[in-house]
Amino acid sequence: MAAIILDGNRIAGEIQAEVASEVRTMTAAGMRPGLAVILVGNNPASEIYVRGKVKSSEEVGIYSEKHMPPHTISTQELLELVIDLNRRDEIDGILVQLPLPPQVDSKKILMAVDPAKDVDGFHPVNVGLLSTQRPGLVPCTPAGIIEILKRSKIPIAGQEAVVVGRSDIVGKPTAMLLINGNATVTVCHSKTRDLPGVCRRGDILVAAIGQAGMITRNFVKPGATVIDVGMNKVTGRAEFDRLFAGNAKREETFRTKGSTLVGDVHPEVVEIAGAITPVPGGVGPLTIAMLMANTVRAAKLRRGSRVPELSRA
Ligand code: NAP
Repeated sequence: MAAIILDGNRIAGEIQAEVASEVRTMTAAGMRPGLAVILVGNNPASEIYVRGKVKSSEEVGIYSEKHMPPHTISTQELLELVIDLNRRDEIDGILVQLPLPPQVDSKKILMAVDPAKDVDGFHPVNVGLLSTQRPGLVPCTPAGIIEILKRSKIPIAGQEAVVVGRSDIVGKPTAMLLINGNATVTVCHSKTRDLPGVCRRGDILVAAIGQAGMITRNFVKPGATVIDVGMNKVTGRAEFDRLFAGNAKREETFRTKGSTLVGDVHPEVVEIAGAITPVPGGVGPLTIAMLMANTVRAAKLRRGSRVPELSRA
């Protein structure tokens, strides 16, 4: 039987509506949350991401401002911008869109963001708060994965969870959230032996690898929940055929656009999984929704208000 499709757009819509309602209440109380986004230079992909973030802020009523310094900016100049945003009380969240140009010391910039305004949840202070289960700001994509599971009533506690990928922004924080949710967690990476065998242990399998369609059916325990974080652009005909042969809708997209988007999970996995997130329309929409939720959370944490339990598994 084909897997249940976990609709990320629907879940993200639910979260955005909840956030919008909180923002209305906060704004009426004179505490409108504010988000500052820094976009350096003219990276087209970054421009699209930032546009989406600013648009979502407007939709939920969060005050937002965009800073667009030139690609020639120095580390010192960017630091001064971050320090200024740290000081401004009406700004609750600061997001530095990555990647930064090579002359800028990215680590120094990310470390300079006030942890209380670090809505990406990348600052070591927030990493520490997450790993010790204290209130802080959790990275958006991992937080979104937990929201998908919780809102789809997929149990976490006591389940075997396997996370493929150990990046600081996806794999590790996802594993930490699953541990905090009482799953038994295995983290895999490029040196893992017998990856398919380890993956098959997972009642929940999270793929955050960056390899188009790498997780094929022999990696998946029948009935498992599969969360596909990957976002890979397929442009080659042979690769397309390996993934989508016989899929007329995808064929149409591929022919007209010259590319199509695929996750780290092969489409054939839908035949064996119990539930699965699609690409596009799975984890992706949750990342922006959780950025909105994090901005509200940051505003509340800074003002000492009670914070919602959203995404704390
Ligand atoms: P990353 O920093 O490149 O990390 C990839 C991880 O996968 C690494 O830990 C790497 O292992 C592991 N890996 C690579 N090849 C492997 C293999 N053949 N076997 C086993 N493990 C392997 O990537 P990331 O930033 O975590 O992102 C992962 C994917 O998620 C990408 O496709 C990215 O575009 C996507 N993404 C999506 C969203 C969203 O909103 N949907 C957000 C963020 C990222 P090593 O550590 O050993 O190198």
